[in-house]
Amino acid sequence: MLTKDAAPERGPTAAKRLRRVQSYTVGNLRASSCTGRPAAGSYTRTVSQLLRTRAAAAAALALVVAGCVTACAGGEPTPTPKPSTPAASSTPLAPPSPAPAPAAPAAPVASTDPNNLSVIVNKLRPLAPADYAPADVVEVPVPFANQPFLRKEAADATVAMFAAFEAQSGLKMQAQSAYRSYQTQVSVYAGWVASKGQAGADLTSARPGFSEHQTGLAIDISALPAACTLQRCFADTPQGQWLAANAVDYGFVLRYPDGGTPVTGYEFEPWHYRYVGVDTAKAYRASGATTLEQYFGLPAAPTYAP
Ligand SMILES: [Zn+2]
Repeated sequence: MLTKDAAPERGPTAAKRLRRVQSYTVGNLRASSCTGRPAAGSYTRTVSQLLRTRAAAAAALALVVAGCVTACAGGEPTPTPKPSTPAASSTPLAPPSPAPAPAAPAAPVASTDPNNLSVIVNKLRPLAPADYAPADVVEVPVPFANQPFLRKEAADATVAMFAAFEAQSGLKMQAQSAYRSYQTQVSVYAGWVASKGQAGADLTSARPGFSEHQTGLAIDISALPAACTLQRCFADTPQGQWLAANAVDYGFVLRYPDGGTPVTGYEFEPWHYRYVGVDTAKAYRASGATTLEQYFGLPAAPTYAP
C-alpha cells in the first residue's frame, strides 16, 4: 500500500522543501563553525523529517557535506558525516570503515621440518627422515671435549655465547657434545642400553632418529676445567648458572629443565641447550613456558609411542 510518506515528491512543493532544508542545515553548520563534531546523524534525521523521502534526504545530506567542506577549507578539521539511521542508508557516502583491530600475536607453531629452527624433536616426534643430516654443519671454533659441529647459525651463536661468558666471568666452558649423526646416535644409545638397560637409557639418551643432537641445533656444554660434566650438579657451577640466565639472549633454550620429565621424557639436563634463534628464545622466555612442548602447545612426550 502506498502511503504519502513513500510517494515521490514532485513539483514546486519539493523544490521549496529542498531550499528550506538547505538553508536550515547550512545555517546549523555555520553555527557549529566545524570546530566540533557536527551531529550528522541528527542532520540526517532532520532532513528526513522535512523531506519525507530517502532520496531527497540523501541529496540534502550531500549538500550539508559539501557546505562543511567549504566552510572548513581554512584548515579546521573537516567533520565526517556519519550516516547512522536507516533513513540515511541509501546516501552516496560510504560509512566510515571500522578501525582495524590490532593484530593478535600469532601463536607459535612447531615445525616437523628438521631444517626449520622451530623443529621439535621428542619421543613422539621423530626426525623425518630418521637419518636426516643437516646440510650446513660447520665446525664450532670453541674449546671442546669432543670436536663440535653445529649448523652454521647455531655455531655462530655458540661462539658468541662462549665469548660473552669468558669476558664476563673470566672462566671458561667447553663443548661436550654437539651434532651427532644418526649412525653416531646408534652407537651412543647402544652404549647407554648396555650400561643402564633400555628403560634407564631412554631417560638419558635418545633412540636413533629421535635425538635433538641430530638436528645440528643442540649442544651439551661443560665446564673447563671439567666439573660435574653431564651431571645434575652442573647446574650449580658458574657455567651452568650463567647459561641458565643468559643462553636465551644467544638463541638457546634449556631443553630439559628440572621437573620437566613428564613433558620432555628426559631427566634434568642442565648442560643440554637447544638453538631456536634469538627471537623465538626470547619469546619463549617471555611466555613463561617451561618446556618447548608447552610453548608450542604440543602434547607431552614422556615415552615413545607403543
Ligand atoms: Zn644433549
